[in-house]
Amino acid sequence: MESLSVEAALQGILAHVRPLPARPAALDEALGRVLAEDIQASENLPPFPNSAVDGFAVRVADVATATREHPARLKVLADAPAGTVVGCEVMPGTAVRIMTGAELPPGTESVVPVEETASTSGEVQVFRPLGPGLNLRLAGEDVRAGERVMAAGTVVRPAEIGLLAALGRVEVPVVPAPRVAVLTTGAELVEAGAMPGPGQIRDANIHGLGAQVRAAGALCLPFPRVPDTRAGVEQALRQALASADVVLTNGGVSVGDYDFVRETLGRLGAEPVFVQVAQKPGRPLTFWLLEGKPVFGLPGNPVAAMVCFELYVRPALRRMMGLERLHRPRATAKLAEDYRKGVKDPRTHWLRVQLQPSPGGWVATRTGPQGSGILSSMTKANAIAEIPALGGSLKAGDDVTVHLTDLPEDH
Ligand code: AMP
Ligand code: MG
Repeated sequence: MESLSVEAALQGILAHVRPLPARPAALDEALGRVLAEDIQASENLPPFPNSAVDGFAVRVADVATATREHPARLKVLADAPAGTVVGCEVMPGTAVRIMTGAELPPGTESVVPVEETASTSGEVQVFRPLGPGLNLRLAGEDVRAGERVMAAGTVVRPAEIGLLAALGRVEVPVVPAPRVAVLTTGAELVEAGAMPGPGQIRDANIHGLGAQVRAAGALCLPFPRVPDTRAGVEQALRQALASADVVLTNGGVSVGDYDFVRETLGRLGAEPVFVQVAQKPGRPLTFWLLEGKPVFGLPGNPVAAMVCFELYVRPALRRMMGLERLHRPRATAKLAEDYRKGVKDPRTHWLRVQLQPSPGGWVATRTGPQGSGILSSMTKANAIAEIPALGGSLKAGDDVTVHLTDLPEDH
């Protein structure tokens, strides 16, 4: 069977995924989502002029000659704690005791910080002159009514949530998080919390892939492990299709006697986009469209599954989320050790590496054995090095492209 190149496989996937239709999200659910529309401010922020300090609202002429020896003495008309509006005006010779955030009474020209005053009941002494417009916040100085404060395509971070809340936007139109069904298969698998019997192993991937889904900002739907039977695989795929935007099957995609995933997808009418990729690990990666929804057939070997998620599924999920940047940063690094690859081997090899800076640039050191089931070397890696499909062995010191898998996407 013909294997697709890494680039062709990625293009094949991205050509078939689009941002999900926008829908309103409750403000607290919008974190990490992409805004589907511009956000226009319907009101000024702050909505009213208010004090930036605790102190006394005054007219500047009244304190123009104030010194510590000869303080200006002003009659205190009222107290203005935050959240109240006083009914009086600051007239010549008077002041209003005011707290941070309280609305300025009419006539206020500046607010003297409390540290520069002394007060008794009914009177305040001001020790310093101050110019007009000090320690005030003007209505609309942050945001003007009608102003566009966020553009469609903005990723909602905590700062955006705060500003949206200040503007009273308790619901915002966003591109929702894709709902992802992770379907692990394999008669040898038991729950992570169980003690495996003879010939059994724990289901690592339902957790590892689920974590990758959540780390990508998508929603992992709870699906039980799928029995390795035709009926079991079919039922799980139908349920996944009913509730998920994306389906990840795991295992059962090679040509083993009990590998029912491909067969069942075909029977359900799924269109294969590709069924093999010229890469190691991850050769059995398949990609299908089932009723228009992306279905990734990920290999069962834990590292192969994770690498395929990282390089193919994650960019697709990001596109579905409406994000522009799909791929992790890339860099060039020098291999720390020789790497053997047959000249006739037409596959891209992905290596788990630890990147370290050196005076000559990044150095990529393999984190251990590279078998597609060796998860421990995955835990030590902070990058994936790409050994090109074309070309054979590489020597220590040769340049390789590395994908920095611990850093956010930059392209
Ligand atoms: P398969 O692709 O189903 O032939 O599986 C390939 C290898 O990955 C086998 O050694 C499986 O035992 C292993 N494997 C498959 N699924 C999982 C899983 N969910 N967790 C851990 N190992 C798995
Ligand atoms: Mg299996």
